[in-house]
Amino acid sequence: MAEVGLSGVRKVYPGGFEAVKSVDLRIGDGKLCVLVGPSGCGKSTLLRMIAGLEAVTAGEISIGGQIVNDREPAERDIAMVFQNYALYPHMSVYDNMAYGLRNRRVPKPEIDRKVREAATALSIEAMLSRKPHQLSGGQRQRVAMGRAIVRDPKVFLFDEPLSNLDAKLRVQMRIELRRLQRHLGTTSVYVTHDQLEAMTLADELVVMNAGRLEQIGTPMEVYEKP
Ligand code: ADP
Ligand code: ADP
Repeated sequence: MAEVGLSGVRKVYPGGFEAVKSVDLRIGDGKLCVLVGPSGCGKSTLLRMIAGLEAVTAGEISIGGQIVNDREPAERDIAMVFQNYALYPHMSVYDNMAYGLRNRRVPKPEIDRKVREAATALSIEAMLSRKPHQLSGGQRQRVAMGRAIVRDPKVFLFDEPLSNLDAKLRVQMRIELRRLQRHLGTTSVYVTHDQLEAMTLADELVVMNAGRLEQIGTPMEVYEKP
């Protein structure tokens, strides 16, 4: 079980700007929740607070029923995927995907199995020996996702992961990501400013504006409302 809960979560940045204004949200186990809204509305800030990369000013964040406010990012059992991939340029695809598991001293055969399984699920099994610069943008984003998958986290956090890709590839990756998330059943929070992307991906859609959650519901409920 990996419900994500936010209760009265606020963020005031040093200098006094209130980027997130007392947010309450519950994301069901295994659901893909999309936070959509214009640039600057506080989506990334909210995601980074769930990840533990940004401290909350007030409120509580829970993952799987445990309050995680005092936990470091590495102790929260989450994996994050960014738009800029953040791959290690000098490492092979295999090593990029294995890196986090090696750090945690996961046994080698298990690392090998997980890396190969993820690579197969993402159709990059033929690329394992390549370096990131020998890959296309779409392939690099697959590696970034592979690195998240092998960790078997309770929660995936996606920060505009497809926004660097061209339109056609973005549509294709969106479909694949949706299928993969369903297959794995991992609770996910996905941030985007793209309404079409939000509609296609979301089980639960959250429309954010100026630091507040304006609407919460299924894509049908949110977009078909008069
Ligand atoms: P979004 O992801 O929706 O584009 P962000 O969460 O990145 O929005 O930013 C929300 C608001 O907080 C913006 O007005 C931004 O300028 C401000 N902000 C983001 N990070 C910082 C920071 N480190 N210090 C001060 N203000 C910040
Ligand atoms: P070490 O140097 O730590 O002993 P190896 O390079 O021998 O590790 O790799 C151990 C296993 O990891 C190999 O048996 C192989 O299955 C897998 N492996 C490592 N690098 C690659 C790669 N570039 N492509 C495919 N598999 C790899």
